[in-house]
Amino acid sequence: MNEPTISSNGVVRPTYIEVNLTRLTENYRAIERAVAPATVMPILKANAYGHGLVEVARHVVSLGAPYLGVAFLEEGILLREAGITAPILVLGGIIGNQVPLFLQHDLTLTASSVEKLTQIDRAAAEMGVRAKVHLKIDTGMERIGVHYYSADLLLEAALRCEHCLVEGIFSHFANADTAVLQSAQTQLERFNQVLSFYESRGLPPPPLRHMANSGAILQLPGSHFDMVRAGILLYGVYPSDDVAKTIAVRPVLSWKSRVVYFKVVLPNHPVSYGSTWQSDHMVRVVTVPVGYGDGYFRRMSGRAQVVIRGKRYPVIGRICMDQLMVNIEWDSAYNNDEVVLLGESGGSNVAITCEELAEWAGTIPYEILTNINTRVSRLYITEKEKRG
Ligand SMILES: *Cc1c(COP(=O)(O)O)cnc(C)c1O
Repeated sequence: MNEPTISSNGVVRPTYIEVNLTRLTENYRAIERAVAPATVMPILKANAYGHGLVEVARHVVSLGAPYLGVAFLEEGILLREAGITAPILVLGGIIGNQVPLFLQHDLTLTASSVEKLTQIDRAAAEMGVRAKVHLKIDTGMERIGVHYYSADLLLEAALRCEHCLVEGIFSHFANADTAVLQSAQTQLERFNQVLSFYESRGLPPPPLRHMANSGAILQLPGSHFDMVRAGILLYGVYPSDDVAKTIAVRPVLSWKSRVVYFKVVLPNHPVSYGSTWQSDHMVRVVTVPVGYGDGYFRRMSGRAQVVIRGKRYPVIGRICMDQLMVNIEWDSAYNNDEVVLLGESGGSNVAITCEELAEWAGTIPYEILTNINTRVSRLYITEKEKRG
């Protein structure tokens, strides 16, 4: 990969992320195989975990994804405006005046209380349409959803709705990626208890019962029901260090830049803001055009490493908004050399993982991915095209 990346406005920027669509396909298929006969709803919130909302949506639709999941109305509308016609569930809470927009764009709504369901039914009646709805049950997350112990009220109200198509019912785990699964088991039992409402009345449950996020996809086969909601696992990253890696996936995203400046720094000449780092001997230092303004956390100053020419080197001094400096001691590097911030370095097996970046930044891999700014160009490749 030696071409600079050109963004939609024609500007060449050497800092970009590479999204490997072949890997995305492999991860999707691996999850599909593991959960069958349940199907897979790819979760595309937060710009598809930084991978690019519309591009990832198009790709998973081409793989046959039966349903897409996003967090917010705006994300759903962006997908519709991009011409995506697959069913889309908006997982987050809704505000009453948003309902007509959901219906206009044929987005599936999360009904998390009797009041919201009533608002949806009324808006659908006024617009003369049928609202697609999934009922949200809170089994222990205490975020949104009707509590499991009063869920019957919502399920009964849903039976009376004339302008809603109650297509699904779902819940969400608070602790499915831990080594101890007691809390997740309790949530699963509560969800099953809620679902028994239908059986006890001789009614079929809504056709899409779903509960599993990545942790539960890996660790709780009993929670797969009709569909699973695959987020971080689809992107090839495990939700935690403690989770059982029962499905093999590989990272989809790499983040790269290039050397823009090379210099020799004399002993006792500090580098960057605050002069927090200096060497007692002469070193070669390169500057890379990426910083916290791109989502490369400033908190990683003094901890982060990058890969240049197949070798790891430390980021030195404070990470700036748009630039950072790397100490290559007395090795060689040239302007325009590739700098790997995250992912594999072409041709070598030195890699920087999302988990490492998370450790350096004192956060979780989810935040590393979703924090990568839209200022960074995104390049979509398939393995066939990949060179070097
Ligand atoms: C984000 C989210 C998911 C996906 O979670 P992962 O841990 O990334 O798999 C699933 N369901 C809901 C409701 C979510 O908000």
